[in-house]
Amino acid sequence: MELSNRIKSIPPYVFAALDKKRLAAIDRGVDVINLGIGDPDQPTPKHVLDAMHKAIDEPANHRYPPFGGMKEYKQAAAEWCHKRFGIDIDPDSELTSLIGTKEGLHHTILAMVDPGDTTIIPDPAYPVYRTSTILAGGTPHFMPLRPDFDFTPDLEAIPDAVADKAKLLFINYPNNPTAGFADMAFLEKAVAFCKKHDILLCSDLAYSEMTFDGNVAHSIFEVPGAKEIAIEFHSLSKGYNMTGWRVGYACGNKEAVKALAQIKANVDTDIFRAIQIAAIAAFKGPRDHIDACNKLYKERRDLAVAALTSLGWPVKPTKATFYMWLPVPKGMTSTTFSELMLEEAGIMVPPGTAYGPSGEGYFRLSLCADKNRLQEAFNRMKEHNIVFEPAKATV
Ligand SMILES: *Cc1c(COP(=O)(O)O)cnc(C)c1O
Repeated sequence: MELSNRIKSIPPYVFAALDKKRLAAIDRGVDVINLGIGDPDQPTPKHVLDAMHKAIDEPANHRYPPFGGMKEYKQAAAEWCHKRFGIDIDPDSELTSLIGTKEGLHHTILAMVDPGDTTIIPDPAYPVYRTSTILAGGTPHFMPLRPDFDFTPDLEAIPDAVADKAKLLFINYPNNPTAGFADMAFLEKAVAFCKKHDILLCSDLAYSEMTFDGNVAHSIFEVPGAKEIAIEFHSLSKGYNMTGWRVGYACGNKEAVKALAQIKANVDTDIFRAIQIAAIAAFKGPRDHIDACNKLYKERRDLAVAALTSLGWPVKPTKATFYMWLPVPKGMTSTTFSELMLEEAGIMVPPGTAYGPSGEGYFRLSLCADKNRLQEAFNRMKEHNIVFEPAKATV
C-alpha cells in the first residue's frame, strides 16, 4: 500500500498525538488533570436538548437533509446574526450550513486554493488553516501575532509580493490559542488590506460569545463593505456547549459561500435535520446559559491569574475565550515544559509550538475544568516547584 504524497505532507493531528501521551500517563496510574482541551465542560442548554428530543421522533427528520441547510435553519441563523451584530445576511445566497466550522474552513480552502497558491495565516493559530492549505497544495505564509498588540498581527509587515499573490487571509478573534481580542479598528484594517490585495478574508468567529468584563466580540460584517471580500465562520460549539453536535454555518460573500457549498454538496450530505432543529432552538432561545458560562469562565480565569501570579508568572486577565497563553520558565522550551508538567505534576498542557513556530516559549492553558480541579493543578505546580521565577527571599 502506498499512501498519497498529500498525506505524507502533513503531520498527524497534533492534539491526537498529545492525547496519546495523556492516555499513556493515565495507564501508568497518574490522575491526569487535562488543561489541554478547548471543549466546554458544561452541558448543552436544556431547551436545545428538548428540541432535539422532539425532532428525533419525527420520521421526516430521518431522511437526507437539503444541501446547504434547511430553510428554517438558515433563516434562524441569519436572524441571530442580525440580533447579535446588527448585520444583514441573506439566508438564501449568503449563508450555508456547516458540519462544524473545522469542516467549513477546510472546504473553503479546497474551494479557493490551487497548488502553488499562498494563504496568509496567523502564527500561532488553530492548526487547520495551515494543514488544509498544505493539503490543497498551497503554501502558508505566517503572520506573527504580537503580544503587545493584544495578539493582532502587523498587516503592514506582510510583503507586497506575498499579499498580491495570496488567495486567503485568516483571522480569528477572540483568538485561540492566545485569548487575543480585536477591536473594530483592527477589523477595518483587515478589510481594507484584503480589498487592496484582492484576498478573501476568512474570519473564524468560533468564540464570539465567550467574552468577559464588558468586552463584546464583533462580526467582520460590522465593517461597511466587508461582504465584498469576506466570509465568516460561526459555530455553536463553544458558545452553546455543542462541540459534539457538529453544527455551524458560514456567511458573507456570495461567490465564496456558493463555492464552499458546491464543494460540500459533492463530498458530504449536510447536517442531520434533528440537529438543525435543535440549533434553531439555540438561535431563538434565551442567552442566560451563555452569561452563566461566561461567569464561570471568568471565575476560573480570576483563580488562575491569582495562582499563576503567586507562582511568579507575568499574567494579565484575559478579555475572552477559555484559554490562557503563557510563557514557559526561562531555560525551557515549550516541549520540555509541557513534558515536565505531565511527568512531574500530572497536568496536560499543549506546547505553544503545536500552534505554529511563534508558539515557541509558550504553553496554552485551558480553563475547561472546574475550580477544584484547577486549584489542584496549581497546588501540584507549587508542590513540584514549577514556577516561572523562583520566589524572592522575604526579609
Ligand atoms: C474549536 C474551534 C473551531 C472548530 O469549531 P467546530 O465548529 O466545533 O468545528 C474553529 N476555530 C477555532 C479557532 C476553534 O478553536
